[in-house]
Amino acid sequence: MEKYQKQLEEEKKLLESELASIGKFDKKTNDWVAMPESEEKAQDVEDEGDIADRAEDYEGRSSALSVLEKRLEDINHALSLIETGSYGNCEICGNKIEEERLDVNPSAKTCETCMNKVI
Ligand SMILES: [Zn+2]
Repeated sequence: MEKYQKQLEEEKKLLESELASIGKFDKKTNDWVAMPESEEKAQDVEDEGDIADRAEDYEGRSSALSVLEKRLEDINHALSLIETGSYGNCEICGNKIEEERLDVNPSAKTCETCMNKVI
């Protein structure tokens, strides 16, 4: 169990630094938001192609951000389960999640059987 906690905490740190590189945490909404282009840069834009490129960049960051955020949520969830002592149980059938599965993905929420059912 301890090794998973360590793994999860390391991944959490990694995710948070990745999040911080493309966005910032908005304390008002308690949510991560993608970093907009700086105003300075925006004034340099001359043709529409550039504007489209920048919009794509922003969208790319936004979607990357939501993927990372979802992953961070799963990890925080797993960490809270470790705290309450219910870590490692399948959320669907309640059986123990296979150890090999947790080795690959410590934030797995379901056992292999249920995962296959979901898909
Ligand atoms: Zn299950």
